[in-house]
Amino acid sequence: MRMSIARRVGLRETIERVMRYGSPEAMHGSMLGRRSALILALLMACHAPATPAPSPPPPTPAHAPPAHTPPAEPPRRVPVVLVSIDGLRPDYVHRADEHGLGIPTLRAMVAQGAAATAVRGVLPTVTYPTHTTMVTGVSPTRHGVLANTTFDPFGDNHGGWYWYAEDVKVPTLWQLADEAGIPSASFYWPVNVGAKATWVLSQVWRADTDDDRKLTRATSTPGLVDELEANVGEVPRGRAWAVEQDEQRARAAGWFLEKHNPGLLTLHMLALDSAQHYDGLATPHVFRTLERLDGILGELREAARRSGGGRATMCVVSDHGFSRVDKIVNLMPELVRAGLVDARKREWSATLWAAGGTGAVVLRDPSDQAVLEKVRALLDRLAADKSLGIDRILRRDEIEALGGFGDASFVVAMRPGFYLANAWDGPAVRPAGPGFRGGHGYLPDDPEMAAMFVCEGEGVPVGSSLGAIDMRDVAPTLAGRLGITIPGAEGRDLFARPEAR
Ligand SMILES: [Zn+2]
Repeated sequence: MRMSIARRVGLRETIERVMRYGSPEAMHGSMLGRRSALILALLMACHAPATPAPSPPPPTPAHAPPAHTPPAEPPRRVPVVLVSIDGLRPDYVHRADEHGLGIPTLRAMVAQGAAATAVRGVLPTVTYPTHTTMVTGVSPTRHGVLANTTFDPFGDNHGGWYWYAEDVKVPTLWQLADEAGIPSASFYWPVNVGAKATWVLSQVWRADTDDDRKLTRATSTPGLVDELEANVGEVPRGRAWAVEQDEQRARAAGWFLEKHNPGLLTLHMLALDSAQHYDGLATPHVFRTLERLDGILGELREAARRSGGGRATMCVVSDHGFSRVDKIVNLMPELVRAGLVDARKREWSATLWAAGGTGAVVLRDPSDQAVLEKVRALLDRLAADKSLGIDRILRRDEIEALGGFGDASFVVAMRPGFYLANAWDGPAVRPAGPGFRGGHGYLPDDPEMAAMFVCEGEGVPVGSSLGAIDMRDVAPTLAGRLGITIPGAEGRDLFARPEAR
């Protein structure tokens, strides 16, 4: 009888969740009373307060014969879905007519939701630090993901990225939702290996062979990849960033939304970033890529609607804008010549951690005044050479104010068109060749780095402009939709009533 109640309401997995986080009264009640209390607690926890659900049927009394029990559908959660289209410039959406872009989904979302004119990014404006800010609401130095690749002066980590969630020093939206009894799904989001989410489809790669598909399977929630492949088809390997692979992951996310009805789902799509790195800005190839992503976004939007009974919140965000790249600049040989780093002897007192439009200069001992002065003099000399394309050198107080690159002693900020690389030898400046004509990573106040944000759903003001917002606002805004808060978030809930901000 007790099992039949649980089965009828279809809540076994979430009952287990509430049992983990449920109230002490529920945990100490009689078995039957405990289950009823759990179901009630669950019904309350599954729905964001901002979008109250219709009242569920009361739990069946223990003495009622099963034959007379009215059938009870499991209550559907109203999902919050966050899709990141990597590298989406806001002008592609807001000036779609000028660009001749056929992106009906994004246009409809702007018309029916609330959109920012621009999102100011974080330092550096690259993928992994930014995506971590989107799910934590804090700057990179606080959340701990400081660049795409880990700090690795001599390349010992084989180009490894910040894949592992244990590097994130603050709670994520997925974790906070899960702990509040709201099942959360992190689909192919950066830094999600081992993330405290209810479901994880990991983003990680090694050798870019098909063997990497096993790595995805092994680092995702047990059984998830098998289930997706049985129902939707092959899950692409870790570093597979063509539009077809974005489409395949989005299709999987849409199926998952309807099947498992999570309260929160985040999905990362990368093909537009790849196209712009390769091609530069606003080319036919770039626009074709965006139009295809818009198509699959439309399908995902419909899946979210069906999953949430037409009341889902759907947000599309990007992590950074894009800028045309004309020249690749390599400053590392200058640091070698100055005796600051020696790869052969594996010795260093200062080195460069490049992130495209910016690069951090990291001292092994940041308090070493002699090295600090030597580096300062070198950077001033390099900045004076206009051919190198250095815009300016940021000092500690500016770096701290921007909240990026941890305890780096300096940040080299490049001028538009100049892109910083990390190579031990070769010329200081070379033309950006075919196959690499666009980049990012420039300072967050560069208008070209502005990112996209649009959100629609029940209670979101229709057709409204949010003006310019901050990347750190994304997580608190999503949290507000979920009815939870992020302790210590640096941003604000864009849809909070003024008195609640
Ligand atoms: Zn990116």
